[in-house]
Amino acid sequence: MSIWFTEKQTANFGITAKVNKTLAALQTDYQDLKMVETVEWGNMLLLDDMVMTTEKDEFVYHEMVAHVPLFTHPSPKHVLVVGGGDGGVIREVLRHPSVQKATLVDIDGEVIHYSKKYLPTIAGSLDDERVEVKVDDGFMFIANSEKAFDVILVDSTEPVGPAVNLFTQGFYAGIHKALKDDGIFVAQTDNPWFKADLIHQVFHDVKEIFPVTRLYTANIPTYPSGLWTFTIGSKIHDPLKVKQERFHEVDTKYYTPEIHFASFALPKFVKELTE
Ligand code: SAM
Repeated sequence: MSIWFTEKQTANFGITAKVNKTLAALQTDYQDLKMVETVEWGNMLLLDDMVMTTEKDEFVYHEMVAHVPLFTHPSPKHVLVVGGGDGGVIREVLRHPSVQKATLVDIDGEVIHYSKKYLPTIAGSLDDERVEVKVDDGFMFIANSEKAFDVILVDSTEPVGPAVNLFTQGFYAGIHKALKDDGIFVAQTDNPWFKADLIHQVFHDVKEIFPVTRLYTANIPTYPSGLWTFTIGSKIHDPLKVKQERFHEVDTKYYTPEIHFASFALPKFVKELTE
C-alpha cells in the first residue's frame, strides 16, 4: 500500500510525494537516513526527512553545482566536493577532461553506502580511479588544507545538524585558503522563498572574502519552492565573462552555455538579497 511522504518547509507548507516502499531506514551517527521508492520521482534519498536527491530530477542540481564553476575556471585539475556523498556532483566533475583528481569529503559514510546501493546512476562515478573518497568533517578538512584545489563545490545538507559549520564565514575563509590563487568555489544556498535571510547572510559573508561573488539559480521541482540558489566566490575568474570558445561538449540535460549566463539573471526579489 502506498503512503505519502511530506517534507515540511514550514509548519504550514511542504512538498509531498507518494511512496511505494521504504528501501532503507536508519539512524546514522549524524542524521536520520531513508531511501524510498516514489511513484513519480524514482528512488529518493531523505536525510532528516528532507529531500536530498531523486533519480528523476537530480541532474538539474548536480549539473548546475558542477558546470558553472568548472567552465568558469580555465583549467580545473584538482576539484574538492564537500558533502555530496550521493556522488552526483562527482559524476559531473569527471565530465571535464582537464580534471585529474576529484576528492569527495562527506561526514557520513552511510550516505555513500546507500547511494551506491540504491542510486547507482548517480553514485556510480565514486569508484572512478580519479576519485578519492574521504569520510570526514568538511569543516575540519578545509581548515587543514592550503592552496590545494582549483575548484571547491559545497554540496551540503541544509544548515542544521552536521552542516551548521558549513554556512559560517570561518568556513568561507578556510575555503579561500584551501583554493589556489585563481580558485573558485560554489555552495548550494537554499531557496529565496523561505530562506531569504540565509541567502543574504551567506552572499555578504562570501563577498567580504572573495573579489568576485555572484548568485545564480536553477529550477529543481523536488526542493522546497522549486527555485534554488547557488553562491559562487572566485578569486579572479568571473562566471559572467567566460568566452564562448571555452565551452566544450559536455553530456548534460539542463546545463548549456546559454543557461550558464541566464542562471545569473535574478528575479528582482532575489537580486535584492545580494544588495
Ligand atoms: N543536494 C542536497 C541538497 O541540496 O539538499 C544535499 C545532498 S546530500 C548528499 C549532502 C551531504 O552533506 C550529506 O551526505 C551529508 O552527510 C553531508 N554533510 C553534512 N554536513 C557535512 C560536513 N560537516 N562535512 C561533510 N559532509 C557533510
